Amino acid sequence: MAHRDCVFCRIVDGDIQAEVLREDDDTLAFRDLDPKAPVHVLVIPKRHIASVNDVTESDRTVMGSLFLAARDVARREQLAERGYRVVMNTGADAGQSVDHAHLHVLGGRQMTWPPG
Ligand code: AMP
Repeated sequence: MAHRDCVFCRIVDGDIQAEVLREDDDTLAFRDLDPKAPVHVLVIPKRHIASVNDVTESDRTVMGSLFLAARDVARREQLAERGYRVVMNTGADAGQSVDHAHLHVLGGRQMTWPPG
């Protein structure tokens, strides 16, 4: 169910503009509004799942689809060879700011570890 007050549901519905790179039945990939790396793409399930805490058995396929989409985005953005980071922040300690699960695909610069 789409949530009227969820910014990512509104992007899925076309109410809010985004630079969409890839779409399939279950997922949408678009550029982050405030990029933290030269390439910063968000991959989201079209259906509202608030966070990893809310993933259920029935989400197995869509969660797999998120990674297939991330792989495609990385290829298209020329990140596959040199490397990139895929991150899903969950909850307050991780700094999740949008309560609709999303993979960050970050690349185009050297990353550091551990993350901040
Ligand atoms: P997180 O902090 O892990 O929840 O990530 C949320 C991300 O969503 C941040 O990197 C924001 O810059 C990004 N973001 C928020 N609103 C939009 C939007 N309307 N279009 C694209 N990216 C957005």
